[in-house]
Amino acid sequence: MSEAKTFRHGIHPPEHKELTAGRAIERIKFPDRVVLPLSQHIGAPSRPLVKAGDKVFRGQVIAEPGGFVSVPLHSSVTGTVVAIRKHHHPNGSLAECIVIDVDHTSAQTLYDGYARDWESMSSAQLLEEIRQGGFVGLGGAAFPTHVKLAVPEGKHARWLLINGCECEPYLTSDHRIMLEWADSILLGIKVMARILGTEKSYIAVENNKWDAIKALRDRIPADMPCELVPLETKYPQGAEKMLITAVLKKEVPSGKLPIDVQVVVQNVGTAAGIGDWFAFGQPLIERVVTVTGPGVVHPTTLLAPVGMSLAEVLTHCGGLTDDAREILFGGPMMGTPQQFLDVPILKGTSGIVCLTEGQLQQRQEYPCIRCSACLDACPVYLNPSSLGALARAGKYDDMIGQHIMDCMECGSCSYVCPSNIPLVQRFRVAKGLLREKQAREKAA
Ligand code: SF4
Ligand code: SF4
Repeated sequence: MSEAKTFRHGIHPPEHKELTAGRAIERIKFPDRVVLPLSQHIGAPSRPLVKAGDKVFRGQVIAEPGGFVSVPLHSSVTGTVVAIRKHHHPNGSLAECIVIDVDHTSAQTLYDGYARDWESMSSAQLLEEIRQGGFVGLGGAAFPTHVKLAVPEGKHARWLLINGCECEPYLTSDHRIMLEWADSILLGIKVMARILGTEKSYIAVENNKWDAIKALRDRIPADMPCELVPLETKYPQGAEKMLITAVLKKEVPSGKLPIDVQVVVQNVGTAAGIGDWFAFGQPLIERVVTVTGPGVVHPTTLLAPVGMSLAEVLTHCGGLTDDAREILFGGPMMGTPQQFLDVPILKGTSGIVCLTEGQLQQRQEYPCIRCSACLDACPVYLNPSSLGALARAGKYDDMIGQHIMDCMECGSCSYVCPSNIPLVQRFRVAKGLLREKQAREKAA
């Protein structure tokens, strides 16, 4: 067997995927209430089209896009709107949400669900359909899919790259989607390739998921210009720039986007969702979530309605263990710690990882010993040691010259640092402050 493709640098943290990789996707029963934030994506929040007291149906549009970089929001249940009010959001803020009480007498069939004759549609019509389906990137960033598929004037997408790496430890929702929903993924790829006019699609999967590689490879029709590419299992293999380097041997320059090297990257879950939209008209109203980690009693792969609360999901999985101490939305490398159990599952929630006391013990920080382990780990060739010293001294402006804005906050440097220096945490703070400063300057 030839050596698996990959990128240079990166790390190999323990995978811990065995907790859920073998567990088939399980649909959770409908809750009593869903809470749907108007902002579940990068860009302008959606604008409500309903008010308290309105009856809504599962799959009905309840909020319109707030701009071009925005998407409509659909009700994930049939029920009654009880309020539009602020509620805890997984990003730590209080955000405007549409609250819907579920009608348990309803069959919860899909509103206006029908197959789209996608082959007869133009590229512009297909793009508009995807916008109407409310799709955002399901790999974590939640960037509106129709915007990513709208190639700017003067640029051309030659390749569509489907990301099935799921390189974060613990997470296995993409793995299960590839095993169980291969046909939906392939339909989604055909639609996106048609929109973009690409000459070939690639599905990149890490080689710790051979069953998924086989399942997908066996389903690719002989006449479909699509190739499955096994990649080395390494973190952060699923980061867009790393993926492009590994599969196509192309470097996306600093400050540029994949389209600048003629590539569009989409996640396998997004492809499956788009496939289902065209196959039977289901918008983005539910998602596959890995609920895992030593801090949850029964690790499970769930199919949950968007808007269901974290508390209800955990209850379905047997609750938290006595020594559970932290709950993350996302994986342990880049996930967001949660403070409240009433936060809702979002369109972009790929996993819920529950960590225990023993995994979180604060490690004492020591001075940098200039071992260069962080330089060897950084996938974008930054100097985390030097950046860390600048961040510690509060010299944020000086970090710009050392390309801090290219940092993808993958956490590889912190992970390998023998002095336990919280590098990525400092970089997140520095980048946030620099962005605020830039915004202030722009406004002035
Ligand atoms: S967090 Fe930033 S600096 Fe650290 S390894 Fe990742 S990209 Fe490099
Ligand atoms: S890994 Fe830690 S100790 Fe080693 S050079 Fe980087 S910051 Fe310094």
